[in-house]
Amino acid sequence: MFNLDSLLRNNIKRLVPYSSARDEFKGEATVYIDANENGFGSPLPVNYNRYPDPLQWKLKYKLADIKGVPPQNIFLGNGSDEAIDLLFRAFCNPGGVDNVVICPPTYGMYEVSANINDVTLRSVSLTENFQLDIEGLQQAIDENTKLIFVCSPNNPTGNSINRSDIELLLNNFDGIVVIDEAYINFSRQKSFIQELTEYPNLVVMQTLSKAWGLAALRVGMAFASEDIINIFNKVKAPYNMNQATQELALQALDNVSQVNEWIREIVIERDLMSAALEQLPQVLQVYPSDANFVLVKTTDANSIYKYLTDRGIIVRNRNKVELCQGCLRITIGTPEENLQLVDALKSYQPETEKTVPA
Ligand SMILES: *Cc1c(COP(=O)(O)O)cnc(C)c1O
Repeated sequence: MFNLDSLLRNNIKRLVPYSSARDEFKGEATVYIDANENGFGSPLPVNYNRYPDPLQWKLKYKLADIKGVPPQNIFLGNGSDEAIDLLFRAFCNPGGVDNVVICPPTYGMYEVSANINDVTLRSVSLTENFQLDIEGLQQAIDENTKLIFVCSPNNPTGNSINRSDIELLLNNFDGIVVIDEAYINFSRQKSFIQELTEYPNLVVMQTLSKAWGLAALRVGMAFASEDIINIFNKVKAPYNMNQATQELALQALDNVSQVNEWIREIVIERDLMSAALEQLPQVLQVYPSDANFVLVKTTDANSIYKYLTDRGIIVRNRNKVELCQGCLRITIGTPEENLQLVDALKSYQPETEKTVPA
């Protein structure tokens, strides 16, 4: 049986969270002299002299509208990476006590965050088809497994994880299943954010960094039961999202139709680019993608990577990543950028076949 209280670290269970001036007085008043701010203003055209809303309610209400999830089920942080780190800090006892499970090849931050927090990592590689190894997962999980990270669509492979396999985990694992949906906007698959009432052990992460084009703002979202969101709020830094970011994100959310148009274009470009890449002799395989990038198996990833960087085109070399030997990960850019990449690759000649001048 899933029991959130028994999953929590004891220090977090006992924790009395920081109480800010904004927590202690929430009404409207005329004179605010409770937070040691500078009442004169800011040396800027816009005033930032007051501490921001610690729980970002305005932004959450707007996101709730767009996502169809109640605002109380949303956590906002400084990128998804903050949500990942908070999960470790709230649930995982360090020093070899608790463990978490990841399914490589996948997003690198789960492992880095485990290492920063000194939490044991268990890796259960994806199958050759980049799907979950259910038997391997069953063997890896024990009573001290607190979190399983499932990235879908997965980075760097680009595919979605079978929904029925994720449901199997949600129904049978008594820890928390974290589904990282950073690329969900580019996917044919349905998001899990509508399933929060179904699964008390579900955390879904999304971000404004990819489809929304706001990577520099650093806005990550986690969707979960109110009980789990309350734990995030208890452990996070009191003012984890600054006022400027909250305001800019709020503005950006007015432009859903622009973002949806970009998503349509990127998906079209992704399919065009995949087809074009498949024609090239140095491309062995273009893996099907539900994301805004494609994983491409090549005859010589290192040599092609260097060839492209010499021409000012930077892709991600994934040659050293398990199950990704020979692979480059290529983000879908603008049509002009994509054309530049394909044109450059058309002129590529493998080292051994270069003609030697007479
Ligand atoms: C890019 C990415 C993120 C986004 O991280 P942010 O900190 O929100 O920018 C999260 N998960 C995966 C798998 C990603 O590839």
